[in-house]
Amino acid sequence: MASQISGWFVFHVPHDSTWIPDNIRHQIAVSDNELADEILKMTDHHTLDLFTNGIPAEQIVRAEVSRLVVDVERFADDSNEAMSAVGMGAVYLRTHNGLRLRHPLTDAERNTLIYDWYTPHHNALTDKVDLALARFGKCLVVDCHSFPSVPLPYESEQSPDRPEFCIGTNAFHTPAMLSGGLIDAFKQEGFSVRKDFPFDGALVPLKFYEQDNRVSAVMIEVRRDLYMNEVTGEKSNRFGEIAEVVHRLLMACTERI
Ligand SMILES: [Zn+2]
Repeated sequence: MASQISGWFVFHVPHDSTWIPDNIRHQIAVSDNELADEILKMTDHHTLDLFTNGIPAEQIVRAEVSRLVVDVERFADDSNEAMSAVGMGAVYLRTHNGLRLRHPLTDAERNTLIYDWYTPHHNALTDKVDLALARFGKCLVVDCHSFPSVPLPYESEQSPDRPEFCIGTNAFHTPAMLSGGLIDAFKQEGFSVRKDFPFDGALVPLKFYEQDNRVSAVMIEVRRDLYMNEVTGEKSNRFGEIAEVVHRLLMACTERI
């Protein structure tokens, strides 16, 4: 199946990593056990494998560090980032339930985190989109996520009725044929799916954001209980099936754009 993935796809995997570098640990204000629980709840576990198994590395941009170090899916500037209101801008200060995650940082410490982990990630993503545009004249950024079956306290959408898949869109960059096609296709496979619920948007590098319509984007969010055990963090026996469905439907629907 992977060989069918087109070269103009770039898979963005921002929340797969659980890695907290040793030189960051002192910033974290919770115990080892509390940190392990925070990582369990906040990581989009196994999404690298779920979305990109068999995809050439040149088409994948994965955040190296845990989102608890830096969240590359957020705007770097807190004044542009709505989630900074709950202490979860690019550099998290709060846990999933609003407790203190980090000791207060100096501006220099925050800037170092952005310089070390945020900027290189976004430069790599921009470069890969540029490369796809040069080679194919178009690019699709697939923003790869998963979400817990029960809303975490920090989430703005607290409805307990969560679909199995969420298709996130951007008005400028997501062709209606693509988002509509994906939603129809998941429904035909028997899954529940919603557009931009419980999470909305699809990440596009700033260089192209609402400027270059050769860059398409879609976010695919998979409810975690479909493919993993949310208590242990381990893959379930449906993992391969769900990975196959995501790839097959994505390929079928991108033939429309
Ligand atoms: Zn995510």
